[in-house]
Amino acid sequence: MTVESGFLDNLVSQQMHPLYSWQCFVCEASNPAGADACHECGFPAKATGREIASARIARTSGAKPSPIKDTSAFASIAEALRPLSIWRKALAILGGALLFGGMIWFKIAFSLAEVAWSIAAVISGFGAVALAYATASAECSAKSDG
Ligand SMILES: [Zn+2]
Repeated sequence: MTVESGFLDNLVSQQMHPLYSWQCFVCEASNPAGADACHECGFPAKATGREIASARIARTSGAKPSPIKDTSAFASIAEALRPLSIWRKALAILGGALLFGGMIWFKIAFSLAEVAWSIAAVISGFGAVALAYATASAECSAKSDG
């Protein structure tokens, strides 16, 4: 990202609940003061430059302007877990928690025994996540064969 676009993002992001009538960034419809989103296309008054650009592209390509994509860490985890079945999801989440918890434990561990346990937690957590994905891909290839 360039300095200019970062500056613009900040500038646009500060325009929450505009106190004046404003023009939609995407469809250029006029909206009354205090409106959070465009009455024509639903695009929010508050958006970053990147969000405006992607919404404009979506609009010109004929697609409906998609709501702002949730780019939080939780959403990306949910996306990563989507192809997995229920028990594999549980295994992957459990393994991820063990992996993450083990890494934190490793940092705060005082004794050698604690370090050893935290390493064991990280390894088994990683193993659980790897197992969940390995068996999922094995199932997928088995399905395509038969
Ligand atoms: Zn609009």
